[in-house]
Amino acid sequence: MEPIKDRDLLESYNEDALGYRGNPEGLFRPSLAKEVVEIVSWAFKEGKCLTPTALRSSTTGSCVAERGFLISSERMDKIVDIDEKNKIAIVEPGVNLGELKNILKEEGIFFPPDPTSEQECTVGGCVATNASGARTLKYGPFRNWVLGIEVVLPNGKKIFLDRKVSEKNCAGFFGFQNPIDFFIGSEGTLGFISLIELKGINFPHQFNAMFIPFKDEKDALNFCVKIREEKIDVRCLEYFDKECISLLKKGRDDFNMGEYCVVFLEYEFTEEDDKLEFWLDFLEKNGALVDDIMFADSDKKKNELKDFRHFIPSTLNEISGKYVKFGGGKISTDWAVFYEKLPESIDFFRKLCRDNGLNEVYCFGHVGNGHPHFNIITKDENEKKVALNVVDLICDYVCELGGTITAEHGIGKVKKRYLKFYYDPISFSWMANFKKFLDPRLIFSPGNIFDFD
Ligand SMILES: Cc1cc2nc3c(=O)[nH]c(=O)nc-3n(C[C@H](O)[C@H](O)[C@H](O)COP(=O)(O)OP(=O)(O)OC[C@H]3O[C@@H](n4cnc5c(N)ncnc54)[C@H](O)[C@@H]3O)c2cc1C
Repeated sequence: MEPIKDRDLLESYNEDALGYRGNPEGLFRPSLAKEVVEIVSWAFKEGKCLTPTALRSSTTGSCVAERGFLISSERMDKIVDIDEKNKIAIVEPGVNLGELKNILKEEGIFFPPDPTSEQECTVGGCVATNASGARTLKYGPFRNWVLGIEVVLPNGKKIFLDRKVSEKNCAGFFGFQNPIDFFIGSEGTLGFISLIELKGINFPHQFNAMFIPFKDEKDALNFCVKIREEKIDVRCLEYFDKECISLLKKGRDDFNMGEYCVVFLEYEFTEEDDKLEFWLDFLEKNGALVDDIMFADSDKKKNELKDFRHFIPSTLNEISGKYVKFGGGKISTDWAVFYEKLPESIDFFRKLCRDNGLNEVYCFGHVGNGHPHFNIITKDENEKKVALNVVDLICDYVCELGGTITAEHGIGKVKKRYLKFYYDPISFSWMANFKKFLDPRLIFSPGNIFDFD
């Protein structure tokens, strides 16, 4: 298969949602796994680099190629099989996640992973980034829902990796007992995922959703910590600070709420117990401004709240995009800590921003998992440098607390500088050597996670 080299066409594949740009030499768009094998075998023989790309909704530069060729999954978009009885779906990597979830819903299958970008991303992209979302709090990340994958390895050999299901296992090293887990979240560095087997579950009980206002951040975060401490069954526990709410008020006429700090929560319930009494009591006792709650008990209202939630990151991407040409743009953090350390970590980060003169800062995200997204809008190169240094400091701080530098979006090309806070040099070299073992010519996704040059 010949690569496409048309510059205009390549240009349309040359940017991710962050605005990160590459410089691809060409593009392959295979429709079949055997074409992928052919392309990868050629690249291996010739020493050409390949970067898998899907819908480029990633925000780390991982799906763009700084050199070599892109290999797109867009034509591998078939749903191969749906087994209603066992709630298993076999799909090609280019299937759109939102569309797949709708189709599975019609078959009575609930597929829990819910990245905010689900309408704009593929199943393959989600497997390669181990995507997560609001409902990860209850159902875990994408990894938990992948039974098997077919991968075309960097040497052109195709393998199928499934997941062992025994509850106890002492066969060899833990990480190697399920090698599939090396590939989930490997950001295109270990090969091309050409087929995916997913499992779903029965639709859970019904659920309601709420936007719950609080007078300040401290009250909102303490409320979230209390929910976790008391092990109250919620399926998502998200947060938007006052700046995000003010963005929503400016951008959406249909959003009617005061300038509060807001917790977004979903809880499941049954016919026997609608849990309304419990929630009213709990909210009143724990600082919520109950008169202003936005309550969603119909599909229409639930979708409206979800839509408001999605408006925030997508608008921030738009706002920051206009500063890219001045050397600025959005610096987004993806760090996470154990939930009870979150209030102090957020205070620490806000102080760092204030002390360094960073004023346009938005905080939203998955606080139930101790995982906020801070978005710093930087207007030029100097401000961007300051913001990157501030993010260095918070990454060092959260790693000292046993947290992580990225809980969702991965490392890609833009977060490599933070790896030193998470890994000690020896364990990082084990990971790099594993990459070299599988990809000795270093052809897959150069610049993602590792810098070998
Ligand atoms: C508004 C917005 C909201 C977002 N919300 C979330 C969120 O809630 N949760 C979350 O986790 N992410 C979120 N993201 C990030 C992004 O949507 C996810 O990372 C998503 O999984 C990327 O899917 P994609 O199909 O666009 O893949 P791409 O962005 O094209 O690629 C992502 C990575 O996957 C690799 N890849 C893609 N296909 C394959 C394949 N077949 N084989 C091997 N590697 C492959 C690429 O090389 C790259 O490293 C958000 C992004 C935006 C813009």
